[in-house]
Amino acid sequence: MALIVQKFGGTSVADAERIRNVARIITDTYAKGNDVVAVLSAQGDTTDDLIDRAAELNPNASKRELDMLLSTGEQISCSLCAMAIEAMGFPVVSLTGWQAGFYTNSGYGNARIKRVRGERIRAELDKRRIVIVTGFQGINKYDDITTLGRGGSDTSAVAIAASLNAGLCQIFTDVDGVYTADPRLVPTAHKLEEITYDEMLELATLGAQVLHNRSVEMAKRYNVNLEVLSSFSGKPGTKVKEVVKTMEKSHVSGVAKDKNIARLALVGLEDTPGIAFQVFSLLAKNNVNVDIILQSIGRSDTKDISFTVAKGDMELARNLLEESRDRIHFDRIDVSDNIAKVSIVGAGMINNPGVAAEMFEALFDAGINISMISTSEIKVSVLVHISDADQAVRVIHDKFYDEFNGRQ
Ligand code: ASP
Ligand code: MG
Repeated sequence: MALIVQKFGGTSVADAERIRNVARIITDTYAKGNDVVAVLSAQGDTTDDLIDRAAELNPNASKRELDMLLSTGEQISCSLCAMAIEAMGFPVVSLTGWQAGFYTNSGYGNARIKRVRGERIRAELDKRRIVIVTGFQGINKYDDITTLGRGGSDTSAVAIAASLNAGLCQIFTDVDGVYTADPRLVPTAHKLEEITYDEMLELATLGAQVLHNRSVEMAKRYNVNLEVLSSFSGKPGTKVKEVVKTMEKSHVSGVAKDKNIARLALVGLEDTPGIAFQVFSLLAKNNVNVDIILQSIGRSDTKDISFTVAKGDMELARNLLEESRDRIHFDRIDVSDNIAKVSIVGAGMINNPGVAAEMFEALFDAGINISMISTSEIKVSVLVHISDADQAVRVIHDKFYDEFNGRQ
């Protein structure tokens, strides 16, 4: 008998019939002799609808009140699911975030979990009850309700799995697992049987929307066995773990794109020691996350530095730099949000120096221009024009998977 945590996303619990389907998955797992904790998201578009309803009354509502409101979405799905399980004759109890012992920091709207006090859940499991817990929410030191940021229920599930030492944490969603590329974009994309935490973390951060990236970070830290699978198909999904069997065979696990970025270029920047420090500490202090950075070779006492930020931070970054021209001297700032980042991710890349070149060749063959490049041990990212992004994903995917498919 094992303890299994099962998380169900919004589409999996969207209506009564789907809740019944989820109730069946949970009770089947329980009937096999396992202890089951299920973590649920709000039904369908509930969270978006609640945000709209708040805006109707107050577009500047305080984050505390918003969290109070948003947390109700998960209470609805959990209580309904518990009722469906009751109707099937199984012992069950639903718990809110605070009842389940989720303690977070005070950051309303994007709170971090500090710890999960598992006593209540454990006590319920000891009574052989199925426990249904609201995802996405906790309580802070003021006893106020907090939420974990959009998509945060994945992180709730992993946190419970980590704190109760569960044997497995299954994330049920509306896709079969993690794919080598977005299947809507690349018809030949296929499901991965396994992927490492690091690869998954890169893919989650790069905009593959299967898992909340904080949940992967946490799974890695606490070595939680994760599986991403569909609540509809009943097929095995993708396992996320430390080391995977297939790692040696294929160099690239996935191709991802991110259109939510913008590039800023500081042109004619004064070439003195400490200037990069000044630019990037200014941005960091104002919570602007910088991704790719490129510095040109200096010429006659000036240089250029280009970098990328999330699209929503572009104006803020530009204003911060414009306002500090008395300290940071440059000729001008060019900004562009007509760009996208396309990346390949693969743990097997470390020992295969040719992978980046192959990616560039695929882009060259398709006549796609690269404007910036960045690499890490397990990732190569390029910036391309936004209108080239989808084609870039396709040609890169073809390049690697035509070749490696046979070997996988
Ligand atoms: N219901 C929340 C959201 O829509 C949390 C989640 O689904 O994970 O973002
Ligand atoms: Mg989600």
